[in-house]
Amino acid sequence: MSEVDEELELDSLPGVGPATKQKLNDAGILTILDLATSGPSDIADAVDIDIAKAVELNNKARKKLVELKRLEPDFINAADLLAKRKAIDRVSTGSKNLDDLLGGGVETWAMTEFYGEFGSGKSQICHTLCVMVQAPRGQGGLEGGAVYIDTEGTFRPERIAEIAEARGMDQEKVLSGITVARAYNSAHQELIVKDLGQVLEQKKVKLVILDSAVAHYRAEFVGRGTLAERQQRLNKFMHQLLRTAEVYNVAVVVTNQVQAAPDSFFGDPTRPTGGHVVAHTSTYRIYLRKAAKNRIARMVDSPYHPERDAVFMLDERGVDDPAEDTARKR
Ligand code: ATP
Ligand code: MG
Repeated sequence: MSEVDEELELDSLPGVGPATKQKLNDAGILTILDLATSGPSDIADAVDIDIAKAVELNNKARKKLVELKRLEPDFINAADLLAKRKAIDRVSTGSKNLDDLLGGGVETWAMTEFYGEFGSGKSQICHTLCVMVQAPRGQGGLEGGAVYIDTEGTFRPERIAEIAEARGMDQEKVLSGITVARAYNSAHQELIVKDLGQVLEQKKVKLVILDSAVAHYRAEFVGRGTLAERQQRLNKFMHQLLRTAEVYNVAVVVTNQVQAAPDSFFGDPTRPTGGHVVAHTSTYRIYLRKAAKNRIARMVDSPYHPERDAVFMLDERGVDDPAEDTARKR
């Protein structure tokens, strides 16, 4: 790998010699960034060491990234943290109302989950974000690329072209700024995320979409006996994705279906799939509902957003504000 930045070479870490480097490379861990985003059990398997040693190796990688100012140190002054948070980049969803609910758009350095029933607009939000992230800064975008991990075969380049056109952007350019990865099963989905780092660096990606997060796991692990294994696999996968968001400073957006929750006595009798695993890894969770022609989004358990609703709609521009709101704001 001659393309690896010298400062990100694995053997620039103390204690990593050529043999270890080779073993890591063989497992697809090519740079210090890859090492920092890999889970301890993957590192342990790759190098054939115990978990404690693997954690140590992972920590060394993180420490190096802190030195390179690519990652926050463990101890950070709250004032510095606030300044840093103010500088977090955001991608517009295409709707002012929905952006306001999110505090200005989906955040880089975090994982945002949209969940809701079929047709509630999850994939439409994903498509629109892939267009918006490429818009200039100041116009809702970050002039960055997007990766769309499509687990359900619902990515439509035609829809991207339509949204770009309606927003006065160059269709060809927007389409070529999106890298699509079709994941055929959960193991494939895990492999794609493991190999994501290089694509993110090469294509200046600012947004990673995973549509949807849990579907393969739900389909493959059926029956009570498989639940523990499913949650363990899902947990490992979701954490790898979250570490990727942090290390590469990209916005990660995942979608999730809802399932009936018979034990719910009040409110909506549905809840997102994936249980605690997905709930705990997502930084922000937004619940989407259909309401006649419109869609209603609600921020659920955010660390700092008030719980409230936003109304948006779906049209040729992708995600958009209802006409009456657009008129009022102009
Ligand atoms: P699922 O759980 O099945 O994946 P979803 O939440 O991803 O559902 P979406 O595909 O985002 O659902 O939304 C589908 C809806 O988007 C359609 O029912 C339609 O109302 C709307 N829609 C799709 N394309 C267009 C378009 N070109 N113009 C206007 N509305 C559209
Ligand atoms: Mg969908």
